[in-house]
Amino acid sequence: IKRIALLTSGGDAPGMNAAIRAVVLTAAACRIEVIGFEHGYIGLLEQEYRTLLPQHVHNIIQRGGTILKSARCPALQTPEGPKLAADNLQQLNIDALIVIGGDGSFRGALEIARYYDGQIIGVPGTIDNDVDGTTNTIGYATAIDTALDAIDKIRDTADAFERIFLVELMGRHSGYISLAAGIAGGAEQIICPEFSQITPKDLRQITTPIQHAQLLMGKASYIIVVAENSYPGGTTALAEALTKAIGIECRACILGHIQRGGSPVGADRILATKLGAYAVEALQQGAHLQMAGEVHGEVTLYPLAKTGDRTKAIDPYLVRWQQQVGSY
Ligand code: ATP
Repeated sequence: IKRIALLTSGGDAPGMNAAIRAVVLTAAACRIEVIGFEHGYIGLLEQEYRTLLPQHVHNIIQRGGTILKSARCPALQTPEGPKLAADNLQQLNIDALIVIGGDGSFRGALEIARYYDGQIIGVPGTIDNDVDGTTNTIGYATAIDTALDAIDKIRDTADAFERIFLVELMGRHSGYISLAAGIAGGAEQIICPEFSQITPKDLRQITTPIQHAQLLMGKASYIIVVAENSYPGGTTALAEALTKAIGIECRACILGHIQRGGSPVGADRILATKLGAYAVEALQQGAHLQMAGEVHGEVTLYPLAKTGDRTKAIDPYLVRWQQQVGSY
């Protein structure tokens, strides 16, 4: 391998820069040239790229976002997109492509692979942690801490004044961030797609524990963490429905994109360094259509095609504890 290309795609995640740095430094040590496409697959389709040398990645390990920028790229999902991407890679003499992103980005990589002769490897970078084949994704640990900081602050105001808050956290269609931040923030309830199906017609699952807590424990504040996409109409609609149902004002707080930003925590920097370096090493050993992940502390390769299968369990121990004990 003489020349590899790198891009960051999908929602940006803290630690993507640390992964870029690890790829560039590892490649440089192996005398492999690296180019970075800007704005995810858009840069690949539009040949917007730059050479990445070690001096370009100094002092970025602690920075959130991604120096290559990230984007969603509908053009790759058109019939012509993947072939054009592959043609551009061949034309630039790229021997291998490293995609840092989530399972959607890996689906895009698989489409490109149908027309591309070189190797492709993925590095899991998304706050959502919804990628199979790695215990944690890059960005997840930071997102938990960011959400937790917000929950702690909301708890202060809830204790002092308002009583019931619904805090909506990101996760697309998964509840990893919500379960982790909810547990760490001492949330009375956690609503995630994996274990709570709430419908407008049946709110009892939420209201009964609230009423018990108010009556029996006399709680001053009550926090419900809600994973996005858990309720038809969104978390604000859920707060309104609950207010009506129990006669106590329930407030919604949608945390939003703040969860994608910020300086990566140590765990994300370490994971990103490990997986970025491993991706380069694995490519040299011939890896193709694999994701560089970490399971039980060990680096491992996992088929890109299976990363979106959603077989990674959300911690069953914590789910059970939260459901049986957490709202006391
Ligand atoms: P995150 O979940 O953190 O936002 P992601 O990588 O899953 O990350 P997506 O928006 O699902 O984010 O995908 C990123 C990009 O990957 C899309 O904008 C598109 O360019 C490409 N992509 C996704 N699915 C496909 C597909 N089936 N065919 C071609 N390209 C795809």
